[in-house]
Amino acid sequence: MDAIAIRHNDEIIDLQTAKELGVEGEGIELDNAPEALDVLRHSTAHLMAQAIKSLYPEAKFYVGPVVKEGFYYDFKVDSEIGVGDLKKIEKQMLFFAKKKHEIEKYEITMDEAKEKFANDHLKLSVMERIPSETVSIYKQGEFEDLCRGPHLPSTKYIRYFKLLKLAGAYLGGDSKNEMLTRIYGIAFADKESLKAHMTMLQEAEKRDHRKIGKEMKLFTFREEVGAGFPIWLPAGGRLRARLEGLLFKAHRKRGYEPVRGPEMLKADLWKVSGHYQNYGENMYFTSIDDVEFGVKPMNCVGHIKVYEDELHSYKDLPLKYFEYGVVHRHEMTGALHGLFRVREFTQDDAHIFCTVDQIEEQIIEVVDFVDKIMTTFGFEYKMMVSTKPEKAVGDADVWEKSEQALFNAMKANNLDYEIDEGGGAFYGPKIDIKITDAIGREWQCGTIQLDNNLPERFKLEYNGADNEKIQPVMIHRAILGSFERFIGILTEHYAGEFPMFIAPTQVAIVPIAETHNAYAKEIADKLIDLGADSEIFDKNESLNKRIRTAEKGRVPMIIVIGDEEVQANTVAIRDRRTREQSNSSLDDFLSMIQTKINEVNF
Ligand SMILES: [Zn+2]
Ligand SMILES: [Zn+2]
Repeated sequence: MDAIAIRHNDEIIDLQTAKELGVEGEGIELDNAPEALDVLRHSTAHLMAQAIKSLYPEAKFYVGPVVKEGFYYDFKVDSEIGVGDLKKIEKQMLFFAKKKHEIEKYEITMDEAKEKFANDHLKLSVMERIPSETVSIYKQGEFEDLCRGPHLPSTKYIRYFKLLKLAGAYLGGDSKNEMLTRIYGIAFADKESLKAHMTMLQEAEKRDHRKIGKEMKLFTFREEVGAGFPIWLPAGGRLRARLEGLLFKAHRKRGYEPVRGPEMLKADLWKVSGHYQNYGENMYFTSIDDVEFGVKPMNCVGHIKVYEDELHSYKDLPLKYFEYGVVHRHEMTGALHGLFRVREFTQDDAHIFCTVDQIEEQIIEVVDFVDKIMTTFGFEYKMMVSTKPEKAVGDADVWEKSEQALFNAMKANNLDYEIDEGGGAFYGPKIDIKITDAIGREWQCGTIQLDNNLPERFKLEYNGADNEKIQPVMIHRAILGSFERFIGILTEHYAGEFPMFIAPTQVAIVPIAETHNAYAKEIADKLIDLGADSEIFDKNESLNKRIRTAEKGRVPMIIVIGDEEVQANTVAIRDRRTREQSNSSLDDFLSMIQTKINEVNF
């Protein structure tokens, strides 16, 4: 197969550029590897712009990057443009692809570029952000675009693509700016991959947690409350409580102590931590008696105050504190998305204070904890280790030991991991946990972050064996990430069919007539004693309607009780998942439920 680009010094450059520079490198073929897809998808964005320009000659273009979903282009046209126009644009794209236009690049000075795009205020605003003296222009047919590349050598390589959706987007993501039109699309190297992707998207749409969340009455959002602030409904509250309960036990077993810091702390403390200076624009501030306070965007400082409450000796370490910490962060309105991106969320947050020599065993334990949780939910997962960046603070020896500890922990657990060289935070290396759900989508969840910066900033210490003062290492760690996001992911992963141990309601009890309500209540109470939740469907509606309502709530187990059951102390069971019906004595039924909800332990 032909190369469509070249890898030169770890950078992907297009064939023309390689030729001009007289450099050679490994050829990149057109397949579905990430680097090839990046070039293909960005070139498809240009092809889309070319098609739009030919259909709407007045169109002006802003930026068209490759993103997780594929690619998009932001642009402005005078006429109304809607989802119905996507087909037309796709057809025009195919037309230009079949023309096999060569994609050529040439360089001009910034002044020339400004003159060339003088009538295009969008391009001018793109140029304002480019610091260089010259810019490159990519040309295919009549269409020209300001771009850094790299691009395919010809439009002929673009065959398998689809335009996916149309949205409004503020210029530069700022709601004070004008509104542009954004079209998202996707492209693959072959037909089958495109087809599989479209099937996955259809499946994802069916599983959308916002839709299922509504059907199952898990949570809601309300305009008058505020965007990005979820409201948990009873069923969602029960699901959450189950998850919290399981995790609470799991933390206690591993020696974590529950703690809780305040929701707001004096702004001065955020100055010590550095959040004020570096993260302030994402925080909410208020004042009490003329003293400035910051609502916490993270739980670290509260836990540091717990640590500071006592003097510690090396014999006390490691100390592990955990909290279901509610945090507030200012997210852009356009970035909000159901439970996936909210402005208030609860982290399953913990901080481990330990010695440098304890890092490895602590990481091994956390990684094992992650494994227990993710495999229980049926997620495949992988870890990404990010190492020391160029700009870093802290002792070189501690960095070295920290990184080594992370790699050793990966090896000790026989784990698959990727390395993001230089991708760590300036204060320590980290491990990111990426999970793959039931329909093959990847999600970034928890993080294990080593930190030598906050202990330094807060002058934390412990007494060593010779009573010398030593600074502890702090490990920040969240496994789910946040309950909100994780429950959103779980909802889509299971398509709302939560397994018994996590389902909002374990059993739906449907009494046939009013005379059976007392027995229903008796069963409900016994279930609570076992740690299971139930709901009695005794509304004044037909039996079939009530059973249907219970099924719609995706309750795993439905029991129907009538005269016969009351008399014989039995239940008629309908297992929603297996669609089997059976009869059982009440005692057997209760012990079956008990087994099912207790079979899971993290
Ligand atoms: Zn471009
Ligand atoms: Zn933290």
